[in-house]
Amino acid sequence: MVNHSRRRRPLLPIIGLLLLLLLSSISATPSHQHHLEKEEEDSPITRFQGYLRINTVHPNPDYASAVSFLKSQALYIGLQTKTLEFARSKPLLLLTWPGSDPSLPSILLNSHLDSVPVEPSKWLHPPFSAYRSPDGKIFARGSQDDKCIAMQYLEAIRNLRAQNFQPTRTIHISYVPDEEIGGFDGAAKFVASKEFADLNVGFMLDEGQASTGDEFRVFYADRSPWNLIIKAFGMPGHGSRLYDNSAMENLMKSVEIITKFRESLFDVVKAGKAANSEVISVNPVYLKAGIPSPTGFVMNMQPSEAEAGFDLRMPPTADPDLVKIRIAEEWAPAIRNMTYQIIEKGPIRDYMGRPLMTLTNDSNPWWSIFKQAITEAGGKLAKPEILASTTDARYMRQMGIPTLGFSPMTNTPILLHDHNEFLKDTIYLRGIKVYESVISSLSSFVRASA
Ligand SMILES: [Zn+2]
Repeated sequence: MVNHSRRRRPLLPIIGLLLLLLLSSISATPSHQHHLEKEEEDSPITRFQGYLRINTVHPNPDYASAVSFLKSQALYIGLQTKTLEFARSKPLLLLTWPGSDPSLPSILLNSHLDSVPVEPSKWLHPPFSAYRSPDGKIFARGSQDDKCIAMQYLEAIRNLRAQNFQPTRTIHISYVPDEEIGGFDGAAKFVASKEFADLNVGFMLDEGQASTGDEFRVFYADRSPWNLIIKAFGMPGHGSRLYDNSAMENLMKSVEIITKFRESLFDVVKAGKAANSEVISVNPVYLKAGIPSPTGFVMNMQPSEAEAGFDLRMPPTADPDLVKIRIAEEWAPAIRNMTYQIIEKGPIRDYMGRPLMTLTNDSNPWWSIFKQAITEAGGKLAKPEILASTTDARYMRQMGIPTLGFSPMTNTPILLHDHNEFLKDTIYLRGIKVYESVISSLSSFVRASA
């Protein structure tokens, strides 16, 4: 009885609280629901955010999730899909929108699935949250490099199909793995495959870079990276002796000569006579010498071996044979007991022996069509550039396929591989319109010779 009354006493306040809760939830429901709908609405921006939330950074990119996301988008739009695998667990997704004249060479739009790693603590917003700030900045690793173009290609095609546009040339989109680690299991194997040959590609677009101004940047070539390792050998000797041809002396002579070469080219850049990406760059990246001791290095011995490593970047205009002669005769000459090793991290000439670059003048009809399409979309192109680094485009150019590097981002800070990589929603949406113009123009271009 006592227990019973004790239990009963709080009932009234509870009922009151329940009523209050019920009332407040009724009044809160419409706005709350509206808010949720707005957040989850299927739109170009939310689809972009959906792709950005898939973690495809090295060393363990989630390729399977990225491919399945893109594939479901493509199937919804009505494109043909095919998954290729040239290396285990490294899928490559190929999408196709057949043209009305399949005998004409096709258009290929390329982007890579992977991204470079992140240091999350240095970010304002988690790098896989795709957080959109009140002023429209979408923060995510890959937002500029290059998940933007991956989704813009799809959105542009979605819109063109909704407008009942019919392409004349077939359009393909490739999503390749491993670009950020050299593309050896991705684009390199893809271009060498029968599947690629069967696409009969006439022209390609690949990633470019953001532009801080109003003009779109476009890239007609990449620089080809070389790793150079030079080694010097000599008799070991007491640290107190002055004698000729020690390993350290020989290596240091080479470092001096290479430094002078670097300076002479850097002077050209500083004088404004060439862009950074138009000259050969050579930068020391490591030095290795000395005889280790438990506390550091043995200080009274001159070592018999010394080594240095350099990062070289070769523009397509450089003559690789001349550089090799320079290395053999001046940078690591055998007469100074030196050896060298060059590791070429990609091609520098195409299969016909021509420099790896795409012409950006009216002799290349694809260039004219592309440029015109940008103008029609209300944009302006900056002076075509050589990219300072490398992309998968070099593998396509190696096959003799005209390829332009292009990511439609104007008025955007260049944040690829940086902390707080972001892209503004309005810039992203404008890029879709640009691709609608570019894709429709390229696929409608008919000329017997191209
Ligand atoms: Zn990239």
